[in-house]
Amino acid sequence: MKRPLLGQFEAPRNGSHWLGPIQRLPQPMRRFPEGETVDYVIVGVGAGGGVLSQRLSRAGFRVIGFDAGPFWDSERDWVSDEAGSHPLYWEELRITGGQHPLAFGANNSGRGVGGSTVHWAAFTPRLHPSDFRLRSQDGVAVDWPISYADIKRYYELMELEMPVSGPAWFPWGDPHGYAYGPHPMGGVGDILIKGCTKLGIRVSAGGPVGILEGSHGDRPHCIYRGFCIQGCKVGAKASTLITHVPDAIRNGAEIRPNCMVSRIHLGADRRVTGVSYFDPNGKERFQKARAVIVSGYSIETPRLLFNSACPGFENGLANSSDCVGRYLMAQAGNVVLGRFDELIRMYKAPPAHCMTEEFYETDPKRDFVRGFAIQSVGPLPIAFAKQMMKAKGAWGWGMRRIGMDYNHWASIAVLGELLPNAENRVQLSEVKDALGLPVAKVTFNLYDNDQKLIAFARKKTEEVMWAAGAKEVVQEARYAHLVGAARMGDDPETSVVDRYGRTHDIANLFICDGSIMPTQGSANPGLTIQALAARTADYLISQGEAIFSSNKRDMTPPPVRRELAPPETWGKGAPRLK
Ligand SMILES: Cc1cc2nc3c(=O)[nH]c(=O)nc-3n(C[C@H](O)[C@H](O)[C@H](O)COP(=O)(O)OP(=O)(O)OC[C@H]3O[C@@H](n4cnc5c(N)ncnc54)[C@H](O)[C@@H]3O)c2cc1C
Ligand code: SF4
Repeated sequence: MKRPLLGQFEAPRNGSHWLGPIQRLPQPMRRFPEGETVDYVIVGVGAGGGVLSQRLSRAGFRVIGFDAGPFWDSERDWVSDEAGSHPLYWEELRITGGQHPLAFGANNSGRGVGGSTVHWAAFTPRLHPSDFRLRSQDGVAVDWPISYADIKRYYELMELEMPVSGPAWFPWGDPHGYAYGPHPMGGVGDILIKGCTKLGIRVSAGGPVGILEGSHGDRPHCIYRGFCIQGCKVGAKASTLITHVPDAIRNGAEIRPNCMVSRIHLGADRRVTGVSYFDPNGKERFQKARAVIVSGYSIETPRLLFNSACPGFENGLANSSDCVGRYLMAQAGNVVLGRFDELIRMYKAPPAHCMTEEFYETDPKRDFVRGFAIQSVGPLPIAFAKQMMKAKGAWGWGMRRIGMDYNHWASIAVLGELLPNAENRVQLSEVKDALGLPVAKVTFNLYDNDQKLIAFARKKTEEVMWAAGAKEVVQEARYAHLVGAARMGDDPETSVVDRYGRTHDIANLFICDGSIMPTQGSANPGLTIQALAARTADYLISQGEAIFSSNKRDMTPPPVRRELAPPETWGKGAPRLK
């Protein structure tokens, strides 16, 4: 029998754990015995939890990361097929409502080690310095308790750890360059550049995106086949599953996949003692921990805090401010599709590779505050068909004709800042899931500033499409990315966690994911979430044993610990432009 040339599959040996033929971890994963107390339990090993588990285990803490979904083997589990990628998404029941309800499912959070970074497009822009002071600058929402300067070094670290490919000079916000070169343009990127250039709008070609444009360590470069949102079987796209979790395991962290955490327990001294979880066989177990960090995403994090209500915290754990679940944010994500005479072939590139932030900041000439970005999208045929169903009402034979015309269409999208509002919120519903846990009920409305911003951003994006030479332009209204619902702040009366992610109410309970963001800017949130996680880890390491025994809060900023980055981070790429 002929042997395949490359990638011959070998199943994991007993006790060892690896990520398929490309990324091997020929080392057994540590297993903490039942009954043993660990230092940190992390609930959710996604963007925030993945970085955190890597940093804390490298610093020598005993860490268990629980995830409700599987530990993916990219080679075995992922398929280059749009319809076959549904297990990646959190598709369990969530109730949605309000006047402008959010849609859940594929365009939402992930389930499994790596979390939503497994199926993110990997656009990785930073927030702008202005994003941290909306109240003082624009008179809306709140200021963050930290400034851009507090997170800048962590942005730089994460851009090297993924690593991020991008232009030598990115002119918006705090202008900077990327150490790894940009990607070549796909058909959609060409259209965005053409339209923007005609209108005099500056555009960033080839990134910033967490996708390799050259091979890196044991990871190969991108092969431009467009399946990024299906998991990237190749391993070129960064996800914490392949960037940080392997290093966590190498440093002694245990990852417990297919384990849904159902409750955080509180002791008589108002300190958490551990978590209950359903093991892969559906049996409820208890894991003792000296501290717990919740990193479950903006829906599941508040859901777990509500489901952990107990005497003294009847409205949910760490909810004395009544802010848990509130100030949930989505970004405006209207997709604009244009038909061109020439072939575009949207699938032949990563969806994320070209963008402009020219309209990001507040412009006093407009009738709303804050702004938006315009980004390449490039859906595969099923997502395209769904967009056209909404945009054009396509159905039956008409849908078939549109499907056959797929290669002539280009798709770009708004990424617009919607402001936080207390009534946009996550609560518990009466309905229960298969484990008997109440599911999340989400209410979402658009307010005046949001609607004006969306109308303007949609019009501007359509202008770009026309300017690029489209013969027909249609649009689908939708949202992107959820953050907020457990926001950070200095005031315990109006926020859930402090500037390091520690809940104001419980000294050894932390939150470290997108839910702590007080506002969201017009940047995709993944880079910021990972940068915040690295910063929280540095804080926890500096505090050492005090986290486990003391209720005092030392707010001294920690040093930035570059040395905790995974191997392969340093000495690569080109020197960055300052
Ligand atoms: C289609 C799509 C494209 C995207 N593209 C981009 C992009 O280009 N750039 C960008 O920056 N962002 C993008 N995002 C968003 C980004 O991926 C998320 O904002 C980010 O991953 C959220 O990080 P997190 O740590 O809050 O949660 P996640 O990364 O979602 O991790 C949460 C994890 O917690 C687990 N979990 C939850 N509850 C429990 C529980 N009770 N017990 C055990 N485990 C639990 C989940 O299984 C999950 O693995 C995209 C999202 C989608 C859906
Ligand atoms: S286009 Fe590149 S990053 Fe996206 S799935 Fe293909 S190889 Fe991976």
